[in-house]
Amino acid sequence: MNDILLMLPGPTTVHPRVLNAMSQAVVNHRSAKYGEILTETTELMSKVFQTPNQSYLLTGSGTAAMEAGIANTVAPGEKILNVVGGKFGERFMKIANTHGIESKELAVEWGTAVTPEAIKEALDADEDIKAITVVHNETSTGVAAPIKEIGKVMKNYDALYIVDTVSSLAGDEVNVEKFGIDVCLTGSQKCLAAPPGMAAITLSDDAWKAVDKVETNTYYLDMKAARKSGDKTPPETPYTPSVSLTYAMNEALKMVMEEGIDNRVARHHKAANASVKAVKALGLELFADEAVSSATVTAVKMPEGITDSDFRGTTRDKYGVELAGGQDHLKGNIFRIGHMGNISYKELTQTFAAIGMTLKGLGVIDDAGAGVASIAESYL
Ligand SMILES: *Cc1c(COP(=O)(O)O)cnc(C)c1O
Repeated sequence: MNDILLMLPGPTTVHPRVLNAMSQAVVNHRSAKYGEILTETTELMSKVFQTPNQSYLLTGSGTAAMEAGIANTVAPGEKILNVVGGKFGERFMKIANTHGIESKELAVEWGTAVTPEAIKEALDADEDIKAITVVHNETSTGVAAPIKEIGKVMKNYDALYIVDTVSSLAGDEVNVEKFGIDVCLTGSQKCLAAPPGMAAITLSDDAWKAVDKVETNTYYLDMKAARKSGDKTPPETPYTPSVSLTYAMNEALKMVMEEGIDNRVARHHKAANASVKAVKALGLELFADEAVSSATVTAVKMPEGITDSDFRGTTRDKYGVELAGGQDHLKGNIFRIGHMGNISYKELTQTFAAIGMTLKGLGVIDDAGAGVASIAESYL
């Protein structure tokens, strides 16, 4: 196996149990056997989303579910409010534009979080807004949006509440029913720690009403077709699903439920707090506003005088730890530590040892062990 430790905001390290599950025989996707595994997996998915509503698996990465979430619920020419504070918020806006939906951007400074008040103001200013999109965990900046509080605001408006929880579900608190989320979507390769290639989505009754009103303008991601196939006995997907990834998701979701959602979320918060402390112990600076910093990814300013390739190249090639760089204008200016999925003090110790040794080797710091010492104190 690849012995590089992936400390990325996806894909994350996949547990051998999940890899083994994936190696089961591929069965006919239109059979009772597949119907059984699909039913079990979507039921587990709804438990993790914390919704009484049906969940759907889509073969494709998280972006497929982002596109399905918008294109099925908002018609071309209608208005959507896209909260944009990073790469993934921007992606929602681009998807809306691609489908001829009129996007209104609610711009948020990268590294900070949108406030419920800002959303309220934007909705009050334009009553034609049919839906809003919020990225719960903006992976490009390491910021978590207050989706629970935004949910309280959204209860007073007809606009649909669409939330991307690709890098937060099973890593930070997401409760679809309690937060009043109308469309919630996620991907396989982040906190769920399954291999990349599957997405999941769930819709509220209000969202389904919108789906029934909007004339279908996406073929592969048509949720009416997904519903129709899902309602069959045994349930199916409209087109050939990744059977192997269904097994993987099934096992990964079972592991989430065995650990317990709350325990898993607490474990991610602990890893995030420990990472923030260790970053500071090394004399480095956080990129994100600490008050809203993410439970699953820590974004750090690149120290002066070293390049991204020096830094991340060394942590990977010399010390076997793969970190993520910055995106767009943050490229070279930040690096990101993904601590999602199966992460504990072991991985963080290795990661901060690699960061410390690299920075000392590059002449940036004197004490290579300060980060590791901090991790040890956090987990004592
Ligand atoms: C990873 C990610 C996505 C989806 O990206 P894919 O590459 O399509 O899986 C969407 N939103 C957020 C916040 C993400 O972190």
